[in-house]
Amino acid sequence: MKSLNLWLNPNYGIFPCRFPSSRLNLFYSIPHSSSSSSSSSSSSSSSSIRCHSSVTQHPLRCAVLGAGFAGLSVVWHLLKQSPKELNLRIDIYDEVGIGGGASGISGGLLHPYSPKVKLLWEGAQCWQESMKLLRVAEEASVSKDCRTGESAGDMKAFAAHKRGILRPATDMKNMIKLNDNVKTGLPSCRVETLNNEEAQSLLPGVCLPLATAFYMPEALNINSQHYLEALFQGCKNLVKESSTLDSRLKQLSLHKRSVHRLSEFEGEYDAVIICLGAKVNMLPEISGRLPLRTCRGVIAHLQLPDDMNGYPESGPSILSDAWIAVQGPRSLKVGSTWEWKSMNSSPNVSSEEASKALMELLPKASTIYPGIKDWVFSGARAGLRAMPPLTTLGSLPLLGCINDVIGSNHTCKYWLFGGLGSRGLLYHAWLGNLVAQAVLSCNEEVIPSELTSWKATEPKI
Ligand SMILES: Cc1cc2nc3c(=O)[nH]c(=O)nc-3n(C[C@H](O)[C@H](O)[C@H](O)COP(=O)(O)OP(=O)(O)OC[C@H]3O[C@@H](n4cnc5c(N)ncnc54)[C@H](O)[C@@H]3O)c2cc1C
Repeated sequence: MKSLNLWLNPNYGIFPCRFPSSRLNLFYSIPHSSSSSSSSSSSSSSSSIRCHSSVTQHPLRCAVLGAGFAGLSVVWHLLKQSPKELNLRIDIYDEVGIGGGASGISGGLLHPYSPKVKLLWEGAQCWQESMKLLRVAEEASVSKDCRTGESAGDMKAFAAHKRGILRPATDMKNMIKLNDNVKTGLPSCRVETLNNEEAQSLLPGVCLPLATAFYMPEALNINSQHYLEALFQGCKNLVKESSTLDSRLKQLSLHKRSVHRLSEFEGEYDAVIICLGAKVNMLPEISGRLPLRTCRGVIAHLQLPDDMNGYPESGPSILSDAWIAVQGPRSLKVGSTWEWKSMNSSPNVSSEEASKALMELLPKASTIYPGIKDWVFSGARAGLRAMPPLTTLGSLPLLGCINDVIGSNHTCKYWLFGGLGSRGLLYHAWLGNLVAQAVLSCNEEVIPSELTSWKATEPKI
């Protein structure tokens, strides 16, 4: 190996990283995270990675499987964190295209709390990173290169629903819990306790069973598909910015293609990052080896007829036994059903499945918002969640290098970024950042052990 100009700092460990194909020998110095505790990994920001590379004419080749929240977040962070001089080629594979799975149809509700308004594990970090990525997408959506087939107005609309989320207390036991949990609220995503009068002024006609609701004014409701398209544009903008007249050190391509097995990528790539959502278990090398359960959810789309008064401008989305995600004054989504063990990942919903979902969701939604009866059904979409096991810290996504899990000798590194459950929007940004750091530094230890410890237990499916 050629001598490398190592940047030494007593606070940093030096990790040699030799990609198996020997196309690129890299040394990265990254902060020690021996305990892999969340706090230590939190401090390992992208800027603290120092790369010293002997770059051959061959690029570092990464395949990202899946173009949902997980896949696009990791792509953005790979591009953002990789050193300027690193020749990096990223190929995204998705059988449908951007937002082809659960991400594209999701309710788009974003806040860092459990249904009982308790701050989730690493909620502050997740919230902060999600806000950053939303801003990236927001900026990209108005960039002059944005050519998604959507008008600029539509693209901006993904972030326009900054109307907050209202969580009504539904029974006494629930109320005590909620009251207790409110104390864990973040200053950047507050939880306010509202009485009936205050709630009515936000949303006239709202019906609070216990005359109390918890309001998260900064919580968001986005149009997920538009967000993903804008984030992809953000990735393309990064590639463009890093190109000069005589060099294209960063390359990014999207291949609309089905992945049937991991062995398709052997020899072609240095790192393969698997972000296939609930369909990850369909790959033969992985099938039965991950502790994931699937759960199909249907979302009903409703419209308000022109002769009715529209949903109030500042009217919040609602989180209750069913949720209402407001998309505009005359458009909202009601969700969601939970069909455990389903293998049906199709976004299409038959009329029979739609009417069953409506029969379940509308009574729940109208308990809190009786005005829903004036809205008219305009369609339904569905997605398959990849649900990870419940731990003492909650349902945590599954991350890490899985070469040991899939067995046999492989010439490249396989990384898993999955099990985002029902909170992909909250988790995708921070975890995408961590996965990118791990891939670039070839070091799984930058990922908190809470997210990789699933590998130590036998899957119970
Ligand atoms: C009904 C419903 C409502 C939800 N609402 C919310 C919400 O309001 N807020 C929130 O935070 N989360 C919500 N979620 C959860 C969220 O959607 C998921 O956590 C998130 O989408 C998972 O992202 P992902 O990138 O891991 O998977 P996906 O979005 O499923 O992405 C996987 C991608 O891989 C592609 N793919 C799969 N198999 C193959 C293959 N063999 N070859 C090639 N490509 C393949 C798919 O086309 C897809 O684009 C909801 C989920 C559902 C089902």
